[in-house]
Parts: sequence; C-alpha cells; structure tokens
Amino acid sequence: MYKFGGSPWYAADNLSSKSFICWNCNNQVASSKGYKTFDEQFLKRVYICPHCAAPNIYDVEGKTPISSLPGKEIKKLPENIQNVYDEVRKCMQTNSFTGAVMLMRKIIMNIAVHEGAEENKSFVYYVNYLCDNGIVHKKSKKKADSIRDLGNDANHEIENRTQEEAQNCLGFIELLLMANYEFADEEEAEE
Ligand SMILES: [Zn+2]
Repeated sequence: MYKFGGSPWYAADNLSSKSFICWNCNNQVASSKGYKTFDEQFLKRVYICPHCAAPNIYDVEGKTPISSLPGKEIKKLPENIQNVYDEVRKCMQTNSFTGAVMLMRKIIMNIAVHEGAEENKSFVYYVNYLCDNGIVHKKSKKKADSIRDLGNDANHEIENRTQEEAQNCLGFIELLLMANYEFADEEEAEE
C-alpha cells in the first residue's frame, strides 16, 4: 500500500459524495473531499480516500485508470507464488490483461511441476495434469476448460488478452491457490 497520510491535501474542495472501493487500501469508502474541474461539461474529479488519503481519479466519463484490486487475498502462499500473484492482481487493476494472463500461466505451470508434472511441457499439458490428478476438483473442470485456449504454445507470438479472459483465468488461479495452499492439510502445506 502506498502512503498518502500524514498531512492533509492542500485546498481540497467539497464534492458531491461518491462511494467507491479505493485502489490503494481496498476499503469500500464514501468521500466528498477532493478536486474537480470548473467546467461541468468536462467534469473530471479526484476523490481523496478518507481511509488512506490516496487520490482516486475519475475522467469525464467516470472511468478510472486504477480500479480496486481484483482477486482474493489468499493465505499461506509460498513467497515466490505470493509475489507473482500480487503482480497479477496489480496488472488486472491497471487493465494490463495480457501481462496478467502470462503471469497466471506461469503460476499454473509452477503448481503442476510442484505437484509432480514433467518440466518443459505445454500449457495445455499442465492444465490437463492438474485436472487428471485431482488437483483441480472434478466439479471445477468447466473453469479449467475455459482457460485451456490460453495455451497458445504452438507459435510463440504474444496475443493480446481481454479482460474477460484474464478474469476467467484469475478465477481458476484463486481456486487452485486456495485448494493447494490456504485449505491444504498442514503436513502437505509444509512439504
Ligand atoms: Zn484508501
């Protein structure tokens, strides 16, 4: 989390109240402090988060370049996976979906190899391995199916990924990480 506290913003104005999830502290807040343009026709606004004082920016259409952090906090992740998972969430937060999907593919491959899959195989091989070995629960296979087509291994070109693809993949990753770490039996988690 970035630090915006300590001293108040200079000459912050009173705005019409807006409720939003702050991109920085991830709290659901309502704010009526910030800055706006003089011209109502091209109104853009900056709302100061009452919790962490971060500026939350809205353009003339009400869109924001940094949205709230997507994905769940997951406990008991190993440090290397935690770091990559955090980066995935930050990519999604700033609409960098191709980068997010590339990192999520890495996590999926890592989990499969950690669970005994061979190295240097295709992405689809790893997704199948997770399904065939019960690492993906049989009732979650539809989620796995929806991400198989992200396995563009035949050519090594980078294809742009959409928000929908990235969100699908994030759902699958959350499931995998929760089952394999947060809710794993203790002795397995310590392996
Ligand atoms: Zn905040």
